[in-house]
Amino acid sequence: MTVRFDLGAKPHLGYTGSVVERAADLRQDPAAIATLEADGRARTFVICGEFMIVRKGAPFNDPTFPLGAAGAFAPKREQVFLGRNGDAALFAVAIDPDAAEPLRSRSDLLVTDLRSLALGALVAPEYLPPLAAAKSLLGWHRRHRFCSNCGAPTRLVHAGWRRDCAACGAEHFPRTDPVVIMLAINGERCLLGRQSRFAKGMWSCLAGFVEPGETIEDAVRRETLEEAGIVCGRVAYFASQPWPFPMSLMIGCHAEALTTELKVDRSELEDARWFAREEVAAMVLRKHPDGLTATHPFAIAHHIIRAWLESDQSFF
Ligand SMILES: [Zn+2]
Repeated sequence: MTVRFDLGAKPHLGYTGSVVERAADLRQDPAAIATLEADGRARTFVICGEFMIVRKGAPFNDPTFPLGAAGAFAPKREQVFLGRNGDAALFAVAIDPDAAEPLRSRSDLLVTDLRSLALGALVAPEYLPPLAAAKSLLGWHRRHRFCSNCGAPTRLVHAGWRRDCAACGAEHFPRTDPVVIMLAINGERCLLGRQSRFAKGMWSCLAGFVEPGETIEDAVRRETLEEAGIVCGRVAYFASQPWPFPMSLMIGCHAEALTTELKVDRSELEDARWFAREEVAAMVLRKHPDGLTATHPFAIAHHIIRAWLESDQSFF
């Protein structure tokens, strides 16, 4: 009989639960966007390469600035319209990445990466989903200045949600890269892996990019076979999470492992092994006798693992 573990209150899944209404219908209406820009309530995020500029404050730092302030930090690169946050329009502006260093010396500002803002709870949690969107979208603009079809320069249109090529007429849309992240389950055990870059003692789900022509289920089976030598059968979708490093969507699944003999791909993983439910529960609760832990509650892997521990029935 499967033991159902009580792991306490469910943590919030990072980068989800945005309060920003995207108002996509306004993107093709330059006059409406101009009106929103001129409104004194409009605010913007300011992103400088991989770094976010935030204003120091308590209990949280404020990642928003009046729209005019962004250009005062450094020359603007791109500006995108993220949507409406209550009555105020929310934009994101990319400034010259070289501006990060001089801005670090300002006592009123904090210049840091999104991961630090998220894991350190340095901004109010409702700002994390639009910050993730802004980082992914502006990062896409930074890397798509030229047409992938003909090589001519492209131009930002639709308030930042498309780039057009005047030379060949191609329209380029911001992309999201799907990644499957899965927990393979065999009876009362699950398969966890470690990458060498992980914090000491931390284990997580296996993961990998979905390839062209693949279903989510195919990608789950292929990645689990490639990385750990395990054959999977049924696959059940669990939940998804935007992951703005640089622009992925993590697609969380549970998979039914049909074999148990591991063959770990050491170029991908430092190690992979089977863990009993009791041991994984101790890792999630940070009570493992050897100090082993599961992924941080911010990440979907934690939630995938937790859902398995909290369930007393099969996912399949
Ligand atoms: Zn072109």
